[in-house]
Amino acid sequence: MRRTVVALALVSLFLSGIFSQGYSANEDAAYLAAMECLAKKGEVYFKFPLNADNVIGSRSRIERLTRCISIDNVKDDFVYAYANKTEFASFLKYGFEYEVLPHPGDMLQNPKMAKTAAKLATAWDAYPTYPAYVAMMDSFALKYPDKCRIIQIGTSSQGRKLLYAKITANVNQAAKKPRFMYTSSMHGDETTMYVTMLRLIDYLLSSYAANAYVKRLVDNVELWICPLENPDGTYRGGDNTVNGAVRYTSNNVDLNRHYPNFSAGRHPDGRTTYEPECQAVMNLLDTCQFVMSANFHGGSELLNYPYDTRAALHQDDAWMRYVYRKYADTVHAINAAYMTALNNGITNGYAWYQIFGSRMDYITWSKFGREVTIEASTLKLMTPSQLPNYWNWSYKSLLQLIEQCLFGINGTVVDSITKAPLKAKVFVQSHDGDSSFTVSKLPFGDYYRPIYTGTYAVDYSCPGCRTKTVSNIQVQNDRATMVNVELNCGIGINTFHDNSNTIKIAVTPCAQGVKISFNAVCTEAAIYDIHGGLVKQFPRRGSTEIVWDETGKKIANGYYIIKMLQGDRILTKGFIVAR
Ligand SMILES: [Zn+2]
Repeated sequence: MRRTVVALALVSLFLSGIFSQGYSANEDAAYLAAMECLAKKGEVYFKFPLNADNVIGSRSRIERLTRCISIDNVKDDFVYAYANKTEFASFLKYGFEYEVLPHPGDMLQNPKMAKTAAKLATAWDAYPTYPAYVAMMDSFALKYPDKCRIIQIGTSSQGRKLLYAKITANVNQAAKKPRFMYTSSMHGDETTMYVTMLRLIDYLLSSYAANAYVKRLVDNVELWICPLENPDGTYRGGDNTVNGAVRYTSNNVDLNRHYPNFSAGRHPDGRTTYEPECQAVMNLLDTCQFVMSANFHGGSELLNYPYDTRAALHQDDAWMRYVYRKYADTVHAINAAYMTALNNGITNGYAWYQIFGSRMDYITWSKFGREVTIEASTLKLMTPSQLPNYWNWSYKSLLQLIEQCLFGINGTVVDSITKAPLKAKVFVQSHDGDSSFTVSKLPFGDYYRPIYTGTYAVDYSCPGCRTKTVSNIQVQNDRATMVNVELNCGIGINTFHDNSNTIKIAVTPCAQGVKISFNAVCTEAAIYDIHGGLVKQFPRRGSTEIVWDETGKKIANGYYIIKMLQGDRILTKGFIVAR
């Protein structure tokens, strides 16, 4: 309901703006203040009234407003927003009255800064300098080498490191585990959870031995924690202070309007390239599939769940409301006054205000994830002495949220004949749609499907394999239901007259093809059918492997012969494809 009022009232602003004329002295003063802030910081923070009395308009105009400036909050009949120079110029065209606000990154003139990692870790009531931050991340890996690795996924425009702490038992060995990701401060001036994430890393590692609950999480989940997603924004005032922090990157880009979007396309903010801070995360997501993730912000106190872009609810809306309500409830048991914005601490993103290009929508829609945006404190650049409070109020919820990725339906999918792990689609009947389904991941074929209490039938499918349906899967919240599946992938291989023992033939997992490998480089190869007819030629190859894969078609059953040239030797081998 709130959305409708917000949406229609925003439209009325456009219309009233069209008819406003002339400038008053106040407007001139506001304009000058905006220009000064833009010159100094590259961005301006301002508010304008949400005039809810004139309710007329169309939805497309709302979409234009949220795409021209970065709306940060809609509260108490005002819209709070940030804009860079170009964005502010397009905002001015609407002629709305506005008020320039003190920039949240300038609120602390002299924040307490810790110059060393050790200083910060004594009371966690300061911000690290940038060098102390890097040193602290490195120290985790040095102190706990079997449980923590520091991975630099990229470098910011100004050359600062984009760091993740990867935490799990036996961190250097690949294992069947769900991945979970926490990140903070992609808006550089929203810093409460920056220090809180550092403290979480420290807590997970240092209490592992003594705390069975923490041990269970670290043993069974692969955690990726990035305390600082936008270091250039946070250290805009220099490496030794967070005073002067800004929301945007050093190129004045809002990272949370910058991700590809299922509705607004590859560049919802109209740019043509991605910021390195965004590109690095997208690269990580291409290689690492996360079951769940949370992205910390500041400016309000609530959990904001998918979607930001569209009104239609996610297929797992019931699960999301359960899990995020639990996070807020756990907080409330410690401090009933914290995390109470909107519906007592949780909201659907679109119902609050629509945005395009959020990371939450990108991961949830395009990367088989379940991401939530958590607004951790009303004050953005948090007073350092208050930071320990936010840890005390949040840490139980932070742990519980991690635990959720162990629940629901999980197991492995393998080929029934070869037992090769498969990357299979895991689709819940009468439930999944759009892109809410998940896929099992290689190299182990393990999958994790968090889902709300119920009884489900799940289809497991893989190109070239027979789809298998497992019915009557009983799921309870906060419990794991294991379902291991074997798929019939059809191709049986028998080989004959192995005169060379140099040719190995195998089924390629989860494909329709046949993989043939040799003990040394072959320069040419060809496959013939039983009548001597040429079926497939692999000319001029300099490799030890070929894959016979008829795209989109299954290879017909039959007897085949592979003939290949290795140096001056001709080798042959026969094989049968049988389904
Ligand atoms: Zn934010």
